[in-house]
Amino acid sequence: MSFPHRSDLESRTPLSRHQGEAEARTLDGWRAVGGYEALRKSLGMAPDEITDVVKASGLRGRGGAGFPTGLKWSFMPKDDGKPHYLCCNADESEPGAFKDREVIRWTPHLLIEGCLIGARAIGAEHVYIYVRGEFFEETAVLNRAVVDACEARLIGPNILGSSWSCDLTVHAGAGAYIAGEETGLMNSLMGNRAEPWAKPPFPAQAGAFGMPTTVNNVETLAAVPMIIEHGADWYRRWGSEKSPGTKLWSCSGHLVRPGNYEFALGLPLRDIIFEACGGTPSGKPVKAVIPGGSSTAFLTGDELDCATTYEGLAEAGSALGTASPIVMDADTDIVAAMRRIAQFYAHESCGQCVQCREGTSWVVRILQRIEAGDGRLRDIDTLYELCEQMTGRTICVLADSVVFPLRSSLDKFRADYEARMKPTLVAAG
Ligand code: SF4
Repeated sequence: MSFPHRSDLESRTPLSRHQGEAEARTLDGWRAVGGYEALRKSLGMAPDEITDVVKASGLRGRGGAGFPTGLKWSFMPKDDGKPHYLCCNADESEPGAFKDREVIRWTPHLLIEGCLIGARAIGAEHVYIYVRGEFFEETAVLNRAVVDACEARLIGPNILGSSWSCDLTVHAGAGAYIAGEETGLMNSLMGNRAEPWAKPPFPAQAGAFGMPTTVNNVETLAAVPMIIEHGADWYRRWGSEKSPGTKLWSCSGHLVRPGNYEFALGLPLRDIIFEACGGTPSGKPVKAVIPGGSSTAFLTGDELDCATTYEGLAEAGSALGTASPIVMDADTDIVAAMRRIAQFYAHESCGQCVQCREGTSWVVRILQRIEAGDGRLRDIDTLYELCEQMTGRTICVLADSVVFPLRSSLDKFRADYEARMKPTLVAAG
């Protein structure tokens, strides 16, 4: 499949087309390009009708898990008499991912509009946008936009003259990766440590402040206004049956043109790397790619013809994740790269689960030893065993987030590990 021409690409960027336009950051500028019309339309729809349109669009959560958004909304109880909350997860922290911050920075009103429509669908009376603590500029931009939207009666009582009211609070985190896990986020929002909790209870049963809550990612909510405005079939013009729509991609690593892109889901990963991003600056072959952020499995340079859909990358043995490919050229030290990834997760482990707290730091120590040339072959077996012990046994998936890249790097780049072993220790095993 050849890569679309630029003109074709522009018609395929409905989510990001106003990024880079200073005017679109302002309320007047946003309204001038049709902003808040989808909110107005949603006010004439029943909440279930909004959910049904989003369900029909096939929109899936863009924060990494890919859970169907409309289905998630439908889990919220109806007529239970309790306050409902919508939490927007803007704690973008996955290494490799930097797309949500651009949505906030350039199109804050798009996010606010998406939040309000989502809140209406789930019967929420309050939206919390939980912003990563390090996003100083983004938080300032968002706060400005919220003040302007409040003054224009787009947030608060009787929105746009309707009988529906909804408040919105921007809450800045304190810089913990684990606050991006939905239950960790809610704990942090409530003033507790950002420690995930074991489910059940699920957020739709008892989430923030013990009340039914839905947590959605920034990009997910930002896609909602255009779906409400144009309809589910329009959104399904792009992508595949199981992965409809367009997706923001944060492309980094050894690339001539790294950066954020918006693509229809389904392009071959090879086209994104070589045609959109220009291939490697060194001109050397691609050795490895982590396609969905650092918590997804490595692909080799020979595995780049897979379709960039949820199902396509799963079939290739990895995951779409946050759609944040980190590209590594032929000179990359895979052991050092894996050690650095593992160090990040070990540092960010909240420490509640032994398999995660001890496992991640054990992985780091072994990788450091191998990297220093002091490893022995049985270290590889130990790493495999750690992968086994750390998978699916913890409260959240942070431990698994180390296992996916680690196990795949051992499977696909074993020679790189063995090359770092002390010759005498290789013989001894
Ligand atoms: Fe905390 Fe790790 Fe357990 Fe997640 S898996 S709850 S980060 S210790």
